[in-house]
Amino acid sequence: QAKRSGRGTVAFYEPDGGDDARARLLVTSRLRRAISEGQLLLQYQPIFAVETGALVSAEALVRWQDPEQGLVPPGLFIPVAEDTGLIDAIGQWVVEELCAQAARWRDEGFVPGLGFNLSPRQLRRPDLVASIAAAIDAHGLPREQFTAELTESAVLSDEHRHTSLLEELREAGLKVAIDDFGAGHSSLGRLRALAVDTLKVDRSFLAGVPEDRSAGSIVAAMLSLANALGMNAVVEGVETEPQLEFLREHGCPLAQGFLLGRPVPADRLPRA
Ligand code: C2E
Ligand code: MG
Ligand code: MG
Ligand code: MG
Repeated sequence: QAKRSGRGTVAFYEPDGGDDARARLLVTSRLRRAISEGQLLLQYQPIFAVETGALVSAEALVRWQDPEQGLVPPGLFIPVAEDTGLIDAIGQWVVEELCAQAARWRDEGFVPGLGFNLSPRQLRRPDLVASIAAAIDAHGLPREQFTAELTESAVLSDEHRHTSLLEELREAGLKVAIDDFGAGHSSLGRLRALAVDTLKVDRSFLAGVPEDRSAGSIVAAMLSLANALGMNAVVEGVETEPQLEFLREHGCPLAQGFLLGRPVPADRLPRA
């Protein structure tokens, strides 16, 4: 349903809220225009080494600067883009913009790791890896600077197709992260078979820390799991000092969250 209830609070398309075909069509055409008229932008959220506090990488997060609605978060338009196939054009734009920014940063002597998100429908595109690699190469960037973030459910939903996709990404020289780990329902056994570099622990687990001891135990267990499998780990959603302290005590290598840094435009990303 298309609703106008004011800046930032608008849900003009609700993926689960019935099928208002007209509202969907409206968003689709506006989103198509958003792509062609340059209304998409990327913000970057820093990821820090817990022990040293050094900036290690940044995650690119897409936003839609809509003339009417203001800054629209991806949760409100990625689902419709997925449904309509526009996600391929958006994904292409994201990777190209990210590479252009990475090249500007490189020219300034700043070379952070850079993560970007891939949603399930994008994984179906047969030339996905080739198109990402081409964008990186066009800017003369090292492919290993880039990490593709795929959610657990996307990766594990179709084991055969996506296992080979992960391998394809890694063979092309990129890194791969499982995003929102723990939020889906994968078996740990399957995880072992996956070729991934990094686990990103879903922020829902850290949310209960430190009050909820079982939440803490789960975060600690996921950190040991990553360690045992030789994977890097990022815990998402660090919002408080006690949470950061908890991660320090449990040897968490990397952390991301509002306490450490919110998503910001490229020129406001901290350099160290
Ligand atoms: P994600 O990849 O798990 O990205 C992290 C989300 O958590 C971001 O929301 C970020 O702003 C938010 N976040 C980070 N730290 C904290 C914290 O401490 N507390 C809380 N409450 N939230 C925190 P955002 O930017 O709204 O993105 C939401 C999701 O949209 C992303 O989740 C990702 O799945 C998707 N997305 C974003 N950009 C893209 C994109 O370019 N392509 C695709 N396919 N999906 C994207
Ligand atoms: Mg992500
Ligand atoms: Mg995430
Ligand atoms: Mg998330």
